[in-house]
Amino acid sequence: MSPAPVDLAALPIDRVLVIVAHPDDIESWCAGTVCRFTDAGKYVAYVLCTSGDKGTSDPTLTPQQVAAIREAEQKEAARILGVESVTFLHWPDSEVEPTLALRRELVRQTRKHRPDLVITHDPVPPYRLHPDHRAVGRATLDALFPCARDPLTFAEQIRDEGLQAHIVPEVWLFATEVPDIWVDIVETLLRKIAARLAHVSQHTDPQELERNWKKRAHDTGAMVGLSAAEAFKRVDLQ
Ligand SMILES: [Zn+2]
Repeated sequence: MSPAPVDLAALPIDRVLVIVAHPDDIESWCAGTVCRFTDAGKYVAYVLCTSGDKGTSDPTLTPQQVAAIREAEQKEAARILGVESVTFLHWPDSEVEPTLALRRELVRQTRKHRPDLVITHDPVPPYRLHPDHRAVGRATLDALFPCARDPLTFAEQIRDEGLQAHIVPEVWLFATEVPDIWVDIVETLLRKIAARLAHVSQHTDPQELERNWKKRAHDTGAMVGLSAAEAFKRVDLQ
């Protein structure tokens, strides 16, 4: 079967949880799709494992100062796309590992937000990959299947925190080398770029960034006959 754009309106998805490593990961890879969901009135929540506290070339700043700047930028980017829920887990930037502690927290967030779809990093190669992206992608997949589903796993969340076990039917992995679904972002590309530009500390030339992001969306869309798209690897967890 030749690749084709996915029909979002035909999918039984009302609640979306996006789990990423750093501020600006969402805007770099899946914000056009997020905007499609918020435009359709769907619930979208973000969970960021770190606050990107090492993301500066200025040695006079402390990690705490960088984190504060980047959390504010991420909240503004979310506001532009109509996303109300942004949670920071405050793992240290560039030191994330797919530990049991992270898995437990991602199970908690999944049981809290109860998504029909989770969007996260593809944890498998390319070989040149930020270790936090690999760790968060791996930990998220491990949290969703089977841990969030099984009530005896991290049972204290159910016993003490009022949460319920939750089945996530599918996951979409971005920054993948093996995409199998494409989302049309022609209508949302400019808002995606506006949200990326809200991360003011992470770019020096807005015009260049806009050119690069438009080219990336165009190149991805060209695979399926669209003028702008984002691509994902779909993982069926049912
Ligand atoms: Zn990142």
